[in-house]
Amino acid sequence: MKPNRQNLQQKAIKLANKIAGLSPWMEGTVVSTERVCGKKNCICHTGGQKHAVMYVTWKEAGKTVSLYVPKAMESEVRKWADNYKKLKELLRGVSNIQRQVLRLRDD
Ligand SMILES: [Zn+2]
Repeated sequence: MKPNRQNLQQKAIKLANKIAGLSPWMEGTVVSTERVCGKKNCICHTGGQKHAVMYVTWKEAGKTVSLYVPKAMESEVRKWADNYKKLKELLRGVSNIQRQVLRLRDD
């Protein structure tokens, strides 16, 4: 069965309604890495275990920017970044439906 405009718009509205549930979101890639700390006598300076740290990176005017994520906020920030990915999928999904609406023309 060929989809009609009404069905397509209902699908688009369903997707769009999921957007509010994704808040808060944050654009960025979560990066986990290790680094040495500022304490000169720490074991991390002499080949011992380094310290796990998390950053979030994103692009601003073509340049990559990064921001340190405090330990206590790591899982929360992962969630924000995850929500942003889902948000982008929803935006793409609605756009795809609207393109289908455009293609319905039969002239
Ligand atoms: Zn250290």
